[in-house]
Amino acid sequence: MEYAGEDVHIRATNDDAAVSRCSASKAGYFADPFIPLFVKRAERRSPVINRGSYCRFIGIQNVIQQFLRACKQCDLSSQIVVLGSGSDTTYFLLKTDYAPTRFVEIDFPEITSVKCMKLHRNSRLRSLLPEGCQTGRGGAELYSDQYTILAGDLRQFESDIVPRLLETGLRSDVPTLFLSECVLIYLDPQFSDRLIASVSQQWPSAFFVTYEQIQPHDAFGQMMTQNLQSRGLQLHSIATYPDLESQRQRYLSLGWQQANSKSIAQLHRELPVSEIQRINRLEFLDELEEFNLLGDHYCITWSFQSSNSQIINHWRN
Ligand code: SAM
Repeated sequence: MEYAGEDVHIRATNDDAAVSRCSASKAGYFADPFIPLFVKRAERRSPVINRGSYCRFIGIQNVIQQFLRACKQCDLSSQIVVLGSGSDTTYFLLKTDYAPTRFVEIDFPEITSVKCMKLHRNSRLRSLLPEGCQTGRGGAELYSDQYTILAGDLRQFESDIVPRLLETGLRSDVPTLFLSECVLIYLDPQFSDRLIASVSQQWPSAFFVTYEQIQPHDAFGQMMTQNLQSRGLQLHSIATYPDLESQRQRYLSLGWQQANSKSIAQLHRELPVSEIQRINRLEFLDELEEFNLLGDHYCITWSFQSSNSQIINHWRN
């Protein structure tokens, strides 16, 4: 309960994340036909923000595809767990493409109950739910063989979330990707570190992907943290993991076999020329320097482990 005040602001970040994703998708950077269904009031973001959302989307989707392809090539089932899922649409995007065997989302009950209601009220989303879906916990949870939504607090990951994940059918002997975008940064590192270590201990074949803020010390970083503070938000782990190398070391020291981290600016520089030409045609970006500055302050970090060398080779490449 001591966190209740800050939690209200943390939950509100979900609306902001969905509006940004919706803006980039509507501008044509990537296709996400589902995100507008979760946005109360759409807003157009600046070209710099749209490009950042695009690099984040592409970076995360590439890692997910790499994970799923490897499982398929090794003839293995696969599971995805989204931690702090908010309005994440990955389940629906994969449903129309190549879906994992099981997909689970976890967020606070205030967020999951709104999502469950939308899933049932919107005919397009409802048509993509597995047959025989059941709801529970006053409408805050959804259960089925393929898609589950759980309500809970990630700070109680080991004591509350893990037992319920296993109860609802998530297996610890199936390769599992844990995805967390802009979530762990809001947790005190004592909780997020324990969560990362606990996944490593309980899922021997696993992939962990995060999107987080870094570089709090330069002028832009100070502005970013002050701006969030004015909205009642603290980036709790940014001082402990302030750059790409400390992000990478974090996973290695918490039990993971391999880890890598790239900034959004770096991912942007690695885009194929044809893709840069395509997005340049969508809207004019004359503030490339400003974009790079922003992109240096966000990163995607991924780590993995398995005793199966075949799958490790696929995940590494
Ligand atoms: N991952 C989604 C995305 O990228 O669109 C939502 C991101 S939003 C910035 C952060 C989400 O994490 C919110 O939905 C918030 O409620 C959730 N969250 C933060 N701390 C949490 C906690 N301790 N337990 C459960 N959910 C949490």
